[in-house]
Amino acid sequence: PVLPGSQALDRPERAPRRGHAKKTVVILSRKRALYSTRRLVAAIRARGHRPLVLDTLRCCLLLAQDAPRMTYRGVEVRGVDVVVPRIGASITAYGLAVVNHFEMMGVPVLNPHTSIARSRDKLRALQYLSRSGLDIPRTVMAHDRSNVRRLVEEVNGLPVIIKLIKGTQGVGVMIAHTLSEVQTILDTFWDLGQEIVLQEFVAESEGRDVRALVVGDRVVGAMRRKAKSGEFRSNIHRGGEGQAIELTEPYTEAAVRAARVVGLEVAGVDMLEGRAGPRLMEINSSPGFEGLERATGMDIAGAIIDHALKYAEAKRAG
Ligand code: ADP
Ligand code: GLU
Repeated sequence: PVLPGSQALDRPERAPRRGHAKKTVVILSRKRALYSTRRLVAAIRARGHRPLVLDTLRCCLLLAQDAPRMTYRGVEVRGVDVVVPRIGASITAYGLAVVNHFEMMGVPVLNPHTSIARSRDKLRALQYLSRSGLDIPRTVMAHDRSNVRRLVEEVNGLPVIIKLIKGTQGVGVMIAHTLSEVQTILDTFWDLGQEIVLQEFVAESEGRDVRALVVGDRVVGAMRRKAKSGEFRSNIHRGGEGQAIELTEPYTEAAVRAARVVGLEVAGVDMLEGRAGPRLMEINSSPGFEGLERATGMDIAGAIIDHALKYAEAKRAG
């Protein structure tokens, strides 16, 4: 069967020559026009393999007593060698189901759904990171309106950072300078049914943070992001600027360890530069790398695809 106006989803049923067969690499992405998606497609083509971009929300998951199946616009999805999911925050639940379905079908997926779920929720990610002994800013989650002063003391006093647990790109990250500000913000979010965390403000980071892109067990590129003036959030999406940097050993080690703890093969790891070294802030399972490729001139897409192919090979052998 052939997809209308697109490529066939079926791989020809011939015995692949070991290591030389053309592989089908699926990119799960809502939009094929996104920079990172386009770059991944180009990297797959450049290596002589076959890219297939599937819109996550159009993957149809079929479950019955027999083996799990998937269709895409009415066509059976078969012969996929490896999947690289790019799951945006807005479709996390459906995206995780699709990723898990590929796993149930025996297809290697980079990253697995359990790891994506762990990183998606800021508190959950920090729970894993802190248990493994990595340094993180002091953080509390609570839902107690009567005890705000105590919560603030737990994170070393004012000012404090307040974060929506499910926020991304700097949205839902606030700073509060007085107790009454803290109280107002907490009451507002709790009334809206949103959970938040309070976090120690790492003042010495001065509106900068470090983004390291981890692929497998190494950092393939890193940049320092600097917030625009009058802003403490350094996200590129908040007008921050990225500059390529060479990471020192403690930062490389912390980033790789964080990715491993959460179980991500591809991860954007955000760290604050604390007085005593890296303080892990966040880990992203579908990191955009436009800013990073621009800042570093590195072929991040190529590194991800090389690793995906190797990962698929290892899964098949093992
Ligand atoms: P998002 O997932 O929305 O990017 P982050 O938790 O990464 O949210 O926070 C956004 C930005 O705010 C960070 O890149 C950093 O510049 C700043 N920031 C976050 N937490 C702290 C903190 N505890 N101390 C100082 N700055 C912080
Ligand atoms: N999404 C990240 C940010 O907002 C990184 C963007 C990028 O690398 O293109 O900072």
